[in-house]
Amino acid sequence: MPEACKINHLDHIGIAVTDIEKAVEMFTNVFDIPPCEIEQIDDQGVKATLIEVGQTRIELLEPLSPDSPVGKFIQSRGEGLHHLALNVSDISQKLETLKQHDIRLIDQSPREGLSGTIAFIHPASVFGVLTELVEN
Ligand code: ZN
Repeated sequence: MPEACKINHLDHIGIAVTDIEKAVEMFTNVFDIPPCEIEQIDDQGVKATLIEVGQTRIELLEPLSPDSPVGKFIQSRGEGLHHLALNVSDISQKLETLKQHDIRLIDQSPREGLSGTIAFIHPASVFGVLTELVEN
């Protein structure tokens, strides 16, 4: 067997929303979250923010257009849980390890994301859960 892709911790949980300002307002008013900044990430087609919640974080994602990946997700499944993000060290090496385990990757190499250096694993390889690796 190839070596394991060791996980450090759950980095964040991604939630797809149609209106990120409204979502932040709800999390602020109802759950008293610390202030967070909304950023526009053009290459991923989203407005996004990371909310600190104790040991982990919640990432809110609003699609910039209906034909972006998150836009398509909301069109077919509605708002809701979008992905899990696992924190790892040495993400490039971890991707090679996953390839050796025949895990299907969306990103063949790491790229920069809101939470650090990231790469997505195809949900077909993780029981239907879109999974992100994060190194930060
Ligand atoms: Zn994420």
